[in-house]
Parts: sequence; structure tokens; C-alpha cells
Amino acid sequence: MSKKAAPSFSKALFSGVVTDDLLFPYPKLSREEAENLDIMRDTFRKFADDTIDAHLIDEQARLPDKVLQGLKELGFMGMTIPEKYDGFGLSVTAYVKMLDLIAGYDAGVVLTIGAHLSIGLKALLQFGNEEQKKKYLPKLASGEMVAAYCLTEPGAGSDAAGIKTRAVRDEKQGCYILNGSKLWITNGGFADFFTVFAKEPINGPDGEVKDKISAFIVTRDMPGVSSGKAEHKMGIRGSSTAAIFFEDVKVPFENQLGEPGRGFKIAMEVLNSGRLGLAGGSLGGLKAVFKQAIAHIKQRSQFEKTLDQFEMIQEKIGQIAIDIFASESMIYMTTALLDRGDVDYSLESAMCKIRATEVTWNGVNECLQMVGGLGYMKEYPYERAVRDARINPIFEGTNEILRMFVALSGLQERGEYLRKLGKALRGPIKGFGLLTDYATSWVKERVSTDRIREVHSSLNTPKVNFEIWAKNFHFAVERALIHNGKNIIYREMIQERLADAAIDLYAMITTISRVDTLINEKGEAKCQREIRLCNAFADQAWRRVRRNLLMIDHNLDRDIKEISSFVVEEGSYPFEVQ
Ligand SMILES: Cc1cc2nc3c(=O)[nH]c(=O)nc-3n(C[C@H](O)[C@H](O)[C@H](O)COP(=O)(O)OP(=O)(O)OC[C@H]3O[C@@H](n4cnc5c(N)ncnc54)[C@H](O)[C@@H]3O)c2cc1C
Repeated sequence: MSKKAAPSFSKALFSGVVTDDLLFPYPKLSREEAENLDIMRDTFRKFADDTIDAHLIDEQARLPDKVLQGLKELGFMGMTIPEKYDGFGLSVTAYVKMLDLIAGYDAGVVLTIGAHLSIGLKALLQFGNEEQKKKYLPKLASGEMVAAYCLTEPGAGSDAAGIKTRAVRDEKQGCYILNGSKLWITNGGFADFFTVFAKEPINGPDGEVKDKISAFIVTRDMPGVSSGKAEHKMGIRGSSTAAIFFEDVKVPFENQLGEPGRGFKIAMEVLNSGRLGLAGGSLGGLKAVFKQAIAHIKQRSQFEKTLDQFEMIQEKIGQIAIDIFASESMIYMTTALLDRGDVDYSLESAMCKIRATEVTWNGVNECLQMVGGLGYMKEYPYERAVRDARINPIFEGTNEILRMFVALSGLQERGEYLRKLGKALRGPIKGFGLLTDYATSWVKERVSTDRIREVHSSLNTPKVNFEIWAKNFHFAVERALIHNGKNIIYREMIQERLADAAIDLYAMITTISRVDTLINEKGEAKCQREIRLCNAFADQAWRRVRRNLLMIDHNLDRDIKEISSFVVEEGSYPFEVQ
């Protein structure tokens, strides 16, 4: 995305500006792309119905050869690669919809594809030069090569800027010499194409040499590249996870991706878009197990009634449906912003990842609860769904780190107003890359408004609640900045509340946009169910926003911290009932 991109809807919201023109009407695939997507989905279903056995994959902890081979032969490894490099050239929106479908068959299959397309080869697509693309993309599209993304190291997880892998230029040999190791790399056991992030000594303008992160294409056939044994995992067992080692690997100069020293920005930009695939795939897994749970509760009788007739079961079903509806509204709005190519979507993609992965985690757990003891048995899909879903809040940026990212980048937008503070805020979030590149002045140029456009009258309550709580959110941002000053960077519990409020507000407005657009297309009578979902979600959301904003000023943070410090000091829970 270009540096001149307009800042995101949510960043502007931190400054009290509602840029609803970005989000209305709700976007939609072109007819042609929707038709192509239907064909691709049918092809996948036909293949997967016969070939993918999630229970077996989980037990054997690997994808059968026929599954991987089929994915390659049918072109699924090239879904997002442009047609000129032999891929299908799907938009991000269509791609995420495909991941949603694939995830319903098996979490390991969707992760294998996601690690290849969403992150493994993404840096090549976004930052590679024409020669690099011509050389590798056709092979990656056909699956002759499978890609992996290599950032994490034993000493560098969330703090990815702390990587130790090094690439040193050797002018005599005409290549970089790469040394180091990467941990828990998806597709690591069999990938042949690695996007590797390593530190490179670079001469600064003042003549001082500093280590900066650069990105490289490394292939398995290079002497000195090896992978470790397959990790035994809790879930997503069909996916391959392994360490990758680089020992004096000679990486040709022409394999550098993007500019030297810009690797961290590349790594973060890849994850920004990758997170949308993860969010969509995560919900796809939930929808599949939800379907099975619904079938079960409709036929299982207790107390002479089927389970679906009990209020507490109805509550779970209704809640899961509301949560999926709102999360999807966020995700497909954001994929469309990405497809537009001129809007900063980094905050929104992090929000989608946080919300969708937590909705999924809660949802699969509730599905298991609804089917009772049967859900605990290995022969049914529920326990596997719980195990599979657990990874999502951890990888591609843990949800804690992403909440910090959302809050601090939003606050930075506002903090520019107090320029000194803005400078201080940049420090700790530099690790997230990209933040300082967007035109922060853009928001100031806009006429400030806290209203959104007129929507259909049946959505008036959500609209008014959005406006009220968006305004209160902005006031809370101001108070948080004024009360905490530079210390806001250490106040993670406040950051968490601001991030959660921002997520709910984004979910509210995207859900309103989706339903309003639908009503305009089909008429109110045909949209009663969606109107009900939108109203229910917005009502829950504004109450959460209110609670989070109240707790910015009135909270038990100091007590919680003190309790935490004495428990940590003791080394375990220190009390016993007398
Ligand atoms: C199955 C699997 C597949 C993976 N695939 C890949 C891959 O393909 N490529 C790749 O590069 N990596 C991959 N990873 C690595 C993954 O991205 C990391 O596990 C993740 O970034 C978290 O790092 P960590 O595990 O070292 O946790 P840590 O960074 O040690 O964090 C531990 C906990 O502390 C929290 N924490 C850390 N810092 C803070 C803070 N400042 N404030 C509050 N809380 C904080 C975290 O949120 C987390 O809850 C994979 C991991 C797994 C398990």
C-alpha cells in the first residue's frame, strides 16, 4: 500500500472523526468475481468431500499426500497469485471466503494454504522485483514450491525486532552468508521457499554501522538449509510446524527482498494482510462445528424436549450467530478496503483477527458444551475444534500485542496533536512498523463530524448508539492521554480497554453498513433477521464500550498489579483455606 494512503476509519475515530464515507455502502464482489468464486468453491467441495478426512488427519498429524497433491493440481496453492504468473488472481475478499470454506473441512489444510499464500510468499508478491516474481511465482502457484514465513526465533517471539539470525555480505563470493535458526515455522517440514528475516549490518548516513532487519528469499536446495523434527501439537495437527536452521547459507545478492534494512516493515505489512485470512479461516472452522452442534441439539431430547427448546441453549445459539454475523461484517469490510488499495487497514485487520479468533474460541467451546459429554469424545469433531481454535489468538501477533498495537497506533494519531507525546508514543510501537508512515495530517484536514449518514429507520437505535459511544470514545482517548501523558505506553490495561472499545465500535458500524446496504437492495421486509441481528449486536456492543470506557477512569488496576506482584514474588498461589 502506498505511503499516501488515507488513514483508517478507526484511527480517525480516536481523533473524534467519523469517516463513514469509507464504510458505506457495504462492499460487494463484482458479479464476475462472485461467479468465479462459486465455481472455485464447488471445485473445492467436490475435491474435499472425497479426500479430506479431518479425523484421520488429526490422528496421523500430517496431511495425506493425496490431499496436498490435490490442492496443488487443482490450483488452490495459487489462488491469490496474479494470472500473469499462472495463479487465479483472486481478490483478498474472494480468497478469505475460500479460506472460510476450506477451514470447515480441516484446520491443518487451511493453515497449510494460509501459511503459503497469506504469509509465505506475500513478501515476494508485495515487495519482490519482476525478476524474482517471474522466477518463483509460477512454481509457487502450481505448488511445485511451497512457501513458509520465517520470523520467529527461540529468543524473539512477540518482540520480533530482537531476532538474531544474521546475513552478512561477502563481496568476494558475491552473496550473503546467512546464519541462525527459526522456530515453529508453519510448512517448515516440507516448504522449499522461505521468506527469511535476518539482521544485516548496514552503513548509516553518519558512517556508523548498525544491524537492521532485511528480508531474503532462501530455498531449501541451498546448502546449509535444514529443518528440525515435526513438532507435536495440541491442534492444527495436519499442518507441519518445524524449526529451520541456516548454517553458512550462501544467499545470492539478487535474493534480497525489498530494500536492505526495510525487512521489519516488510514483515509487519505481510502480517497485516495475513491476519485477515486468519480471521476468516477461524470463523469458517467455527461455522462448520456450529452446524454439527445445531443438528445434534435438534434431535437430542432431555426432559421430554429437544435441547433447542431450552432457554440456555437458545442463548448460546443466538449469541454465536450474533458474534459470527458481526465479525464477518468487520472482516469483509476490511478485505474490501485492502482490495481498494488506497486505505490504511492495518488497525482494522488487527481488530478483525482479535475479534474473530476470540469469537471462534468462545463459540467452539460453547458448541462442545451444548452437545454435553459427547463433545468430549474423540470420535466427534468438537474437542478437535477446540484444540484447533486455541492457536489462533497466539500466532500472527498474539491478541495482547495486537491490542497494544490497536490502542497505541490510534493514540499516536491523536497524540500527534500533542506532538511531543506523539514522538514518545512512536518509541515502543516502532516494533510494529508502518505507524509513522501514514499521513497523520489527513485527519486534521477533515471537517470534524461525529454523526454518520442517515440509515434505514429500523437501524436507528444502533446508529444513535454508535454516534453516542464514538463521541464518548474520543473523550476517553483525550482523558487517557491527558491523565497518563507519556506513561500511557506502560498502561496496558487502559490500552486494552481502548482497543476493545475501538473493536466494538468498528464492529457496530460495519454491521450497520452491511444491513443498511442489504435493506436498500432487498427491502426491509426481506431483511428482518439481519435487522434483528444488527440491533442485538449493537446493543451488546455499546454496553461493553460503556463498561470499558468507564473503567479507564474507575478501575482496580493498581490492586490487580499489586496482587500480581506478590503472587509472582511468592512463585505460586500463596493462600490456604484455614
Ligand atoms: C503452531 C504455531 C505455528 C507458528 N507458525 C509460525 C510461522 O509460520 N512463522 C513464524 O515466524 N512464526 C510462527 N509461529 C510463532 C508465533 O508467531 C509466536 O508463537 C507468537 O508470535 C508469540 O511468540 P512467543 O510464542 O514467543 O510468545 P511470547 O512472546 O513469549 O509471549 C508469551 C505471552 O506473553 C505475552 N506478551 C508478550 N509481550 C507482552 C507485552 N508487552 N504485553 C503484554 N503481554 C505480552 C504474549 O501475548 C503471550 O501471551 C508459530 C507458532 C505456533 C505455536
